[in-house]
Amino acid sequence: MDALRENFRCIRCGNSCRLIVKVSASDLKRISQAPHVKRTKFKMADYAEPDAFDPATGNHALRHVNGGCIFLGQGGTEATCKIYEDRPEICRLYPFIGDSALPCSALKTWQKS
Ligand code: SF4
Repeated sequence: MDALRENFRCIRCGNSCRLIVKVSASDLKRISQAPHVKRTKFKMADYAEPDAFDPATGNHALRHVNGGCIFLGQGGTEATCKIYEDRPEICRLYPFIGDSALPCSALKTWQKS
């Protein structure tokens, strides 16, 4: 697992950005200050899925638009993140969550080579 983590390079396929992305209160605070968001004045209802708040964890889920995260963009053939510097913690960790590696196109490619 350590070798996987060390050698992992995101290929910006955007697949993980089409999953449900759980965000904590501190993620949301950081996102609210992101330049892309600040311009429009942060409103929770604009960026969080309605009815997805989990009172047990305090987490929200980022809103989906056209089958992907509201912050997912496209730069040529690569996926881009409109809040990359301020992206949620889970986006920084993916595909390595805890002790396991989640499904990921970059990992599949690397493991085959
Ligand atoms: S916040 Fe950025 S990195 Fe995270 S899912 Fe959305 S577009 Fe992808």
